[in-house]
Parts: sequence; C-alpha cells; structure tokens
Amino acid sequence: MSKQHNFEAETGRILELLTHSIYSNKEIFLRELISNASDAIDKARLKALTDTTFLWDDATFQIQIESDAEAKTLTIRDNGIGMTADEIHKHIWTIAKSGTKEFVEKLAKAKEGGEHNMIGQFGVGFYSAFMVADKVELITKSGLDHKAHRWTSDWKSWYELEESTREGRGTTVILHLGDGNHELLEKWKIKELIKKYSNYVAVPIMMEEEEWEWDDKKTTWNQVNETKAIWKKMKSEIKDEEYKDFYQSVSMDFTAPLGHIHNAVEGKVSYNSLLYIPEATNMFADNRDPSKDYGPKLYVQNVLILEHAKELLPVWLRFVSWVVETTDLPLNISREMLQSNTTLDTIKKGLTKKILAELKKLREQKSENYTTFFNNYGSILKEWVYYEQDMKQDVAEILLFETLLWDSKMSLDDYLDTQKNEEKTIYYITGKSKAEVLASPYLSQFRENNVDVLLLTDAIDEWMIGVLDEYKSVKLKAITASDIKLKEETSEEKEKQEKLGKEFKDILELVKNTIGSDKIEKVELNPHLGDALWALKTPDGAMNPQMEKMMRAMGQTVPETKRILELNPNNKLVKAMKKEFKLDIKSKKLKDITHYAYMQAILLEWGELENIADFVKLTNQFAGEYLKD
Ligand code: ADP
Repeated sequence: MSKQHNFEAETGRILELLTHSIYSNKEIFLRELISNASDAIDKARLKALTDTTFLWDDATFQIQIESDAEAKTLTIRDNGIGMTADEIHKHIWTIAKSGTKEFVEKLAKAKEGGEHNMIGQFGVGFYSAFMVADKVELITKSGLDHKAHRWTSDWKSWYELEESTREGRGTTVILHLGDGNHELLEKWKIKELIKKYSNYVAVPIMMEEEEWEWDDKKTTWNQVNETKAIWKKMKSEIKDEEYKDFYQSVSMDFTAPLGHIHNAVEGKVSYNSLLYIPEATNMFADNRDPSKDYGPKLYVQNVLILEHAKELLPVWLRFVSWVVETTDLPLNISREMLQSNTTLDTIKKGLTKKILAELKKLREQKSENYTTFFNNYGSILKEWVYYEQDMKQDVAEILLFETLLWDSKMSLDDYLDTQKNEEKTIYYITGKSKAEVLASPYLSQFRENNVDVLLLTDAIDEWMIGVLDEYKSVKLKAITASDIKLKEETSEEKEKQEKLGKEFKDILELVKNTIGSDKIEKVELNPHLGDALWALKTPDGAMNPQMEKMMRAMGQTVPETKRILELNPNNKLVKAMKKEFKLDIKSKKLKDITHYAYMQAILLEWGELENIADFVKLTNQFAGEYLKD
C-alpha cells in the first residue's frame, strides 16, 4: 500500500535554499549521508550493550557504497539501528524540525551577509541528497520492530511511504542521480569524496572492487577510509595539518582551531583524549551558550556512550570539544551513574589542568590568534576565575584586558611589565562600556602620570574582580574606591591643599546641605580630577555602583551606599561657584548649579538618572542663559 503525500511549505523553502545557496558545494551530500549512517551504527552499538540479541548475526558494522552505471544510481547502505515507521515520520517526513528551522534562518542570514563560501560547506543532513539526485529511495528496517519501509520522493513536491522488505537491520539510501551528476558514478570520484570529507568516520566505509586473477574476475569489498581513530594514534604519527583537517571535518567550524590537546594518560584512571580549543565562534553551533549541550564525546571501549559528556568539563570550558575515550568505565553505565562518578571526576580534573596549561602556552605563542580567541571566549574564562577560586591565580594569567594607555589587549603580566610605579599596584576601573569608563574623572591623574589602568567593561568583570583581589602578590585596586595619589605631595603642595581646604570649607558645607546628607557621606576637595567638575567616590569597603546595580537587577536588596562627593578646586566652574558664594550665600544660581552638577556626577557614575525631568529642566535653563544676547 502506498500513498503519495505533498511536502509542507517549510520543506519547500528548505529545498529551494538547498538548490540556490548550497549548490556551489553539492558534493557534501555524501558526507551528510555517511555521517547519518555512522550515527545509526553508533546507536546500534549502544543498544547492543543492554540487549545482547539485538545484533543478530550482523555484528560487523560497516557502511557500503555502491554505484550502478546503468541504473545511474548511487547507494549508501548501513547496518545501523534503522528507522521505524514512526521515526521516518518524525525525521524524514517533516524536516521542519526546530533545529532545521534554526538552520534555515542562519543559512538565509549568511546568504544575506554574502557568506556564500561558508554556506557551501554545509548541508542540511539527509535532504542534501537532493542536490545531486532527482529521486531518492530510502529503505530501512529498524532493529527495534524488524519491519521494513520504503520512502521515496522526487524532492520537488511529493513523497511516498510503503511497507517493504530488507534483508537485515539498517538503512539503504538509493540516489537516482540527475543529469550532470553522473560523474558520481565513477569509483575514483566517490573515493575522492570519501577521503576528502569522511576519512575519519570511525566505521569502515567499504566499496566493491574488481580484481583480476589471471582470467578470473573477482570482486571484493575494500575499506576506503582510515578508521583508526585519530585520538588513538601516537602523537608522533600525526601532523599538525591532520589535527586541523580532522577538526574542520567534524566541527562545522571552518577556521583552524587555536590549539589542540592530545593525551594518552595511564594511571589510576587511563584515558585517551583529543580536545580542541576554537579560535572563531561557530555560527552553526553556539558553543558559548551555557544552556546548550557541551562536553566531549565519551567513548568506552569503542562505543560512543555520550555525544556530550558534560561531566568531563566544567561549564566554563564549554567551548572545548572533541573526544575522551576510557576503558575504566563499565559499558552499561547509566546517565545517573555518570553524574557522580569518581573516574569521570579524575578525568575532569586532568583535562581542566591540561587545558589551562595549553591556554598559557597559546597565550605566549600566538598573540594575534589568542586575542581573537579571547575576544570570542574571554568572558567565559572569567567565569572560571569566579567559580574555581583555587585556580584563580593561574586562570588570571591567561586573561587579556583593555587598558587606558595601550591599543591592544594585554595580559596582567604585560601590565606589570609596562608599569613603572614602584608601589606596584594593578589599577582598574569598571563600567558598562569603554566610552563610559573613559569619561571617568578619576582617570585624569593616571593619564597625566602615564600610569596604566585596566578598563573592565564585561558584565562578569565585577564578579571576577571581586574574587581576584591580587595577582602575583600585587594588589588590584579600583581607581574610584580608595585614596590614590600617584605622586607624593611636596610640602608646598600640602600647604596649598590646606589653604584651599580652608577657603572651600564653607562652600563644601553648603554643597553637602544642598544635596542632602541622606545622599552623600561627605564632600571634599580632590585636585587630581583633571578638568572635571567633580566625581563621586565609593567609600573604602563599600559596594561600587556597578555591583550594586547588578545585585539589584538580580532581585537582591542592597543597602544604599552613601558616596563621597569630590570637588575639583582647579575647575573653572568650581571657582566661579566659590565667587558666587562670597557674593550671596543664598544664591539660587548656586543651588541650581550644585543640583545640576550632582546629577552629572551620578550620570557619569551610574549611567542613568532617577530624576531625568529635573535634569532636562536645568539643562534648558542653562542653555537659555547661554544663548541670551
Ligand atoms: P541530522 O542527522 O542532523 O539529525 P538528518 O536530516 O540528516 O539530520 O537526519 C534526520 C534524522 O533521520 C537523524 O537524526 C536520524 O534519526 C534519522 N536518520 C537519517 N539517516 C539515517 C540512517 N541512515 N539510519 C537511521 N536513522 C537515520
């Protein structure tokens, strides 16, 4: 019984995109079909662990590829898990699965952005078969219900599903190649594609070959790919190029990785691992999102147990991928057992250390690539400092920072090397953006004295800096938080300060009363504010504005901290205020200016104002004065 069905609209859109966007690299269809076959075999292997009769007599896993020049067909056959009718419905009928939808959106976006080369590298799984075939047949028999089904489609508008027969468990995909694609019937061409795109698939890919023995023609199945898993080889056997090729063939990341870590560990727990640290972000698999699956593949005795073993890496190393293989776990280990498993814990510790060591090395060796990596993944590394505090000093070594005086990002070691100040302090300022922190009046004396300051503008920076209070025994100090005098004052300067203090005493009092002692703790002079009017300082030990804002945003109740208002005696307006004060203690103008300047200081410090209406009113009032003829 067969019934013809029409495709859903979404499917039509995908197929159109396929022909128009991916056409440039249609040969990836074979990689997609081989990858499906290999996944199906992994699933069968896993199933057989708990069901010993599952494999019947067909336990030699392989993928077979065959071409028929007369029928113009190319066949990909596997003895994997197969599909039930339900699974065909779910996976093959509708390709408008959420993942696929997401993919199509990304594809369309990449197309808009002109990233055609990139598009060419991708496929949309099974459907990429239609890039080369006019008609596709899929005959599959599930190892679960032992019923066979045949699905056929012309790719444009219809498909058919009917019961069928197939000798054993597995799936056969038959491509009826379209005109212009007949080159794919040639054995050398197929081999070339396998070597190019699927060389590292862990299942043997077999092709039939004719051999002549005298007059006798014999056909044998020979293996085309190299199945010795790359991570099982000796390091000395593998060239850098091969590591890179392997990564690119399996990761959907077409930029070379920043680095890799290949290890064979023998000991209390023995394992093999090959991990990659990416440099670029991956537009097709966001490895920065902590809610996505992460972690290397976990193989136990050649069986893929988990696609993403997050038990093997902390979440702040979620961008690191590939594979861990161990013989020290039982094959029938359950998900629950994995969660608190000392073997996995031991491996996790080992991997974390190795990754840190590799990142240290990469930072020293590859400054430009490392900076690109850091721009993409740096804020995740900062989580590491916060959450794994016993490693914070080591992790701090691999962080990079923007600074006041240098254009390129630098490490804390570089910062210490470039600093001349004897007291050796690491100065920093936190804020929402670079523009915001650069506007801080507190930077003036640092600019004047050529002392560098770390500019911390990542959301995570506040947390990170909260736990990292020193680096290599050098204190980190917020430039807004404590009394910082970069130069010792001469006795002359001290005298001048004292004199100024006396002169300004009354006006400081007035300013404090005008703003209200419920809002500010005290008002004092600070001659190191460059040309700024004044600035708000956080008293020592109190929570700074960024942290306070963040805690509030997270719904925590935070006591309001009264700040210290610092007036710059060298500022023209401050001088004018003093003059006005002498003329008229009760001056309305003086009060207005005081309120206005206070609001400015709040804006600079907090990036927002509660009473924006008053601010606008006063601004307009002053603007009116300015324009008066
Ligand atoms: P993806 O492989 O990215 O999930 P595909 O469109 O290639 O997307 O395949 C969809 C699903 O169809 C697979 O996840 C799998 O469940 C099923 N499938 C495809 N090919 C096979 C196969 N050879 N054997 C068993 N199942 C398959």
